[in-house]
Formats: sequence, C-alpha cells, structure tokens
Amino acid sequence: MNQSKKILSSLLFIFDKFWMLGLFILTFFSLILSGLLLGFGIEGSSATREIFFNVEPWPIYVLLSTLTGLLLFGILRHGSLWFIGKPVKDLKVNLPWRLNNAVKLGVMQDKIRRDTYASVMHWCITASIIVLTFVTAQVALEDDTPLHFLHGNYYLFFSFYGDLFGLIGVVGISMALYRRYFVNFHRIRWDERLEDHLILWGLFFVLVSGFFVESFRISITELDSYPSWARWSFVSFTLAVFVDLFNFSDKLLSNMHVFSWWSHVLLVFSWLTLIVFTKLDHFIFAPINAFLLRTDSPGRLSKIENIEEQEVFGVGQIQDFNWKQLFELDACVRCGRCTEVCPANIAGQPLSPMHLIQDLKAHFNETAPLVQEAGNNGKDVRAVAKRSMVGDVIKEEALWACRTCGACVQECPVMIEHVPTIVDMRRFLVMDKAKIPATAQAALENLEQRGHPWKGTTLERTTWMEGLGDVPIFDGSQEYLYWVGCSGSLVERNLPITKSVFGLLKAAGSSFGVLGQEETCNGDPARRLGNEYLYQILAEQLINTFKERNVQKVITNCPHCFNTFKNEYPQFDGKFEVLHHTQFLDESIKSGKLKPVKSIDADVTYHDSCYLGRINNEYDAPREVLNSIPGLNIIEMDRNKSKGLCCGAGGGNMWQEEIGTRRVNHVRSEEAIDTGASELVSNCPFCIQMFEDGVPAVESEEEGRIKPFDIAEVLYRSIDSSSEEN
Ligand code: SF4
Ligand code: SF4
Repeated sequence: MNQSKKILSSLLFIFDKFWMLGLFILTFFSLILSGLLLGFGIEGSSATREIFFNVEPWPIYVLLSTLTGLLLFGILRHGSLWFIGKPVKDLKVNLPWRLNNAVKLGVMQDKIRRDTYASVMHWCITASIIVLTFVTAQVALEDDTPLHFLHGNYYLFFSFYGDLFGLIGVVGISMALYRRYFVNFHRIRWDERLEDHLILWGLFFVLVSGFFVESFRISITELDSYPSWARWSFVSFTLAVFVDLFNFSDKLLSNMHVFSWWSHVLLVFSWLTLIVFTKLDHFIFAPINAFLLRTDSPGRLSKIENIEEQEVFGVGQIQDFNWKQLFELDACVRCGRCTEVCPANIAGQPLSPMHLIQDLKAHFNETAPLVQEAGNNGKDVRAVAKRSMVGDVIKEEALWACRTCGACVQECPVMIEHVPTIVDMRRFLVMDKAKIPATAQAALENLEQRGHPWKGTTLERTTWMEGLGDVPIFDGSQEYLYWVGCSGSLVERNLPITKSVFGLLKAAGSSFGVLGQEETCNGDPARRLGNEYLYQILAEQLINTFKERNVQKVITNCPHCFNTFKNEYPQFDGKFEVLHHTQFLDESIKSGKLKPVKSIDADVTYHDSCYLGRINNEYDAPREVLNSIPGLNIIEMDRNKSKGLCCGAGGGNMWQEEIGTRRVNHVRSEEAIDTGASELVSNCPFCIQMFEDGVPAVESEEEGRIKPFDIAEVLYRSIDSSSEEN
C-alpha cells in the first residue's frame, strides 16, 4: 500500500515538474493502446500507401537545405552581435540544473502554466508541431532509407495520430486566433506587429493545407478501394467524402492534389523561415535562455569587482551589457506579461518592462553592427551610437519607477531578467552621470553621513528600547543577533513592530542580542538606487562588525535586510545564517516555544512583501503563523503569493516622489480594502509604512477602516505575555 502510494506520488511529482512531457507520454500511451485495440481484426496487414504519391520529393530537400542554411546564417550573423557584450561568468556552474531549466522552463514552457488558457493553447500548438515533425521524419525515412515500417497496423495508427495532432494544432491555433481577434485581450495588443498575424495564419494554413493534401490523396487512392484504411485519417477522410460530393474527374483531382501539395510545402518552408526574421525564434531562444538562467538568488544584484578601477560604472552603452543580457533582448516575444503585472505600469507610471526590453532591442539592432565594425577597425566603440541609450532610448523616469519587485521576471515565459538590466542602467546614471532624483540623493547623503536613509528623524537607534527593561547587547555569546534595521528603529510607526519582535524573542526563550547604537545601514537602499560604490563600503563595514562580534545567526524583521544578508553579503565573504522573523516565529510555534493562546476574532488579509515572497520564495511561514492564531481568519487578496503586487516602496522608491496617475500603495491598499478584512497584515516595515499612508488616502472614512499591522504585532497580541522570560 505504502509502496503504491510512493509510486503514485512520484508519478504526480514527475507530472507536475514535467507536465508537458507527462501529457505527451499520456497521449502516446493512449494512442498506442487505441491503435492496438482498434487495429486488431481490421484488414490492416496489407495497409500502406505510396510515399510521395503523384509528386516529386526533391524540391523538399532543396528547400530544407536552403532553410537550414538560412537559419544557420541568420543565427550566426546576428549571434555574433551578442558578443559585443561583456563576458558572462559561471556559465559552466551547475550544468544539471541548467539542463533541467532548459527542458522544464524552455521546452516544457512551465511558466505558461500560470495562464491556463495560454498553457492549453501552447500545448496544442507545440504538441502538434512536434508530432507532425515526427510524422514527416518517418515519411522521409520510409522513402530514403532501407527502413520500411509504414504498413500494416502501424501505418493505420500512423495515419490516425497524424490527423489527430493536425487537428490538435488547428484547435490550438484557433484558440490563439480567437484571443487575438475576438477577445479584448489587451496585453497582446500593446506592441502588435504584422509578424504576429503572419505566424498565426501561416501555421493555420500549413495545417489546413496538410489535411487537403491528404484528402485529395485519399480521394484518388483509398476512398473507393480501401475505405477502411482511409477512415484512420479521420479528418482527411471526412474532407475526402466532402470532396467526393463534387464528382471531380480523376485528372482534376490529381491536379488539385499536386497543387495542394506544392502549396503545403511552400507554406511549411515559408513559415519555418519566419524563425529567422520574427519572434518565432523563441522556439530556439527560450530553451537557451532558460539554460543561461542565473544559478544564484534572483535577489542578488551583481557585484562590480574592483570598482575603483572601472572606466565606466554600470551600463551606459549597449556594449556595456553582458552578452546574456543582449541575447535576452532577442528572446522577448512581446507577450506583455511583464508589463501586465508591473506595479509601476498598473499605477500608470512611466515604466513598461516589455517596452523597455523592446526599445533596448531596437537600439541593439541599430547600434551593435556599428560597435562591431568600429571594434574590428580599431576605432572608438563608444563614439558610434547615434542616440544615448540611457536618457534617450530608455527614459530616466522609467528606470527610477522600477520597484525591483521581480514580478516581471517571475512572469516572463522566456526567462528574461529585467531587474539586473534596469539596475545596471541606474548604476550608470548615479555613479557615472551623478543623476538621481533629489529625494533619493538626500537618502544616499544621509546614508553616507549618518549611516541611515531617514533624513530628519528625531529617533535614536535605541529609542525603541525605552520602557522594555534590559535589552541584551549582542556580544558573541548569544545564539542570534536580532537585527532591528533602520526602519525598525528610526521610523515612529515601526517601533511597535520592533517591540513585538523583541517580546516574542523573549517569550520564545531565545538567546539573542542587538547591536543598538552600533547598527548602521547594511547598504541595501544604496545598492537598489544604483550607488554600488556606497553599498560596497557599507556592506564591508558591517560584515567586519559582524565578524568582530562573532555573529553566526541573524534574525531580522525586514525582508530587504534579510535578502541583503542572505543573498548579497556572501559576495563579500559575509556568510551568516539568516532568518526572517516570520520564519523564526513559525519555527518557535511549531516547536512549542511560542503558544498563541488569546483568540483574535478578526478577518485579516495578508500582503506578501516582494523580498520575502517572490524573491525569496517564502510564502508559507507567515501564513502558518497567522493560521496558528485562534480565531483569526485569512482572506487572500486576488493577487497573492507569487502574483502579489508590490506595496510601491521597493527599489528605493521609498525615497522618491512618484510620477504617474496613481501611487502604487494606493492601488494595493484598495485591493486589501476590497477583501473586507479589518486588518492588513504584512512582514515588512516598508510595506507597513506604505499602507499607513495608502489606506487613509483611498478610504477617507476612519470608522471601520482596515488597519495595517506586522505579523509580529498580531502574534504578540495572541501570546500570553506573562510567559515572557526575563
Ligand atoms: S521589477 Fe517590478 S517594478 Fe520593476 S519592471 Fe519589473 S515588475 Fe516593474
Ligand atoms: S520581457 Fe518576457 S514577459 Fe515581457 S514581453 Fe518580453 S517575453 Fe513577454
């Protein structure tokens, strides 16, 4: 029993991981089974057909050679332009993982599963193309090699699945045509081009013409003589019966067969040629880009090595990107998924990640040949661009509107990583051109002068400790460093969060200490705002402090600090065990160290901060904590977990004035209000600040208005505080 359960769960696991492969296997097994069952007893032993009946096969080989040459020429010629970019490191690292990505994310299109309609549509089209290629290859083998297998029951089965997958392809294409022409599906129209129509209609006519070729052949060779064979090609057979109604002469039927065959062949090769010139290249580029996907955390920005020696900081010209970033530009299929989920775009702010990638692509196509030529001729490659990339091609306000929330990266079906590309251009603006919004500049100046970004705060790093009795200072003897962070100690609203975390750490009986006045910003705002130089100084200082204090484990209630310590400090040899406070609280509840006992009869909605959720993939621990509180009921917002919407503060936008029709925190606050919950719970002091501002802005009535809280504040209410250890 246990064994069969294990087998079943392994099968489900494999199916989940390789869903498209699973569907193929399932379909093939069903086909083989039905072929065997149906073929049994039918006069199929002599069934076969003349390969290339009524036509000459040689044009196919001429066209195939031309297409292969064109493909190779196109890819090599264009591909050489990618290498004007900088080298990419660590490509040989983690090869099995990369191959898994190429298959799972590239070939099996795992990300498209997030959109059920698109996933069914893509599956139908891809399955049809793969199986019909397999069908055509068998015809070639039968014709050109000593292998002869297209006869008997297998031939009948072959006829059946050839037609079946042709029909599946027509269904998939019809779904795509329906969505393109009959549904108000805005994102595919944001950058619609002629090629989008050519690709769809081209494949539609390829499939339909294939059925006509087969139906004319059946009309001539099988309809009267071998109808039981013909029925296996069930779509073509039906068409042949229809054609038969017109009583065409044999001569006319023969000519129609030849005409339809030529039309089909020319359509197939014309359609395949689109791979060289259109977004159809994603057949090839998506698996390659999946293979090239980063092996480290998406929360980690690249380190500029030897920063003092750089001639150019960040990316100011197209050749400053690395070649993977340039390759990605060609992989974009203009599907609009990234822009659809971008919080800045949703709020009507001047950023669309799809257009950003497409504008860079157009600039790449225009500039890369000039850069390549200048490089080959020993000329100054920095003097050839006709327009400045950062400023003219990509507007500065678009770069500043990015929250680095990763929603675009999460959704992109061809695995484009927008965030590093955007931050690289920010680095150029800030460090090379000294251009940065004034409020963000003020935050950075404050970082340099006072070690925190909160200009004008009257609070001290230790203000939150007032009235709490003895707060242990970390001296290396305790297990955890509780990292309070600038927002936890220097922003009035967040002091209750810090106090709650402190109370919970005590209640759990944990061994911890804080740095108090010795805390300084870990540099995250500087890095996200593009000042890598300042970030590196702050990071190295703090890592030294941690090492001097013998810090091994860190708990933080800020997901930005969590991400920095966990994912970015290892770049500077700062390796610590890092827990977000929700993870610590979840563990403490599960181990019985914390017991939520007081009932909180409230409906709450939970907001996943981007840097804990999407970027660090922690969705469960916070929900488990909330679920452990008696009486509490979670109502999810429509956009939740990996689809959650940013609060608007990320990417240094906490310190910027927003440009656009709306503010992101207002949009998200509205979504929370729509749930009808009385509390809006999150796990990040920045999110809480954004909601404290956003909720009253969209809900003027104070009575019954939803209230923002950190999870620690909610849990602390449910803990019997008399259990706190002193
Ligand atoms: S990271 Fe977020 S804000 Fe930036 S482009 Fe992507 S979706 Fe938009
Ligand atoms: S970047 Fe990715 S998600 Fe955005 S339009 Fe291009 S392919 Fe689609």
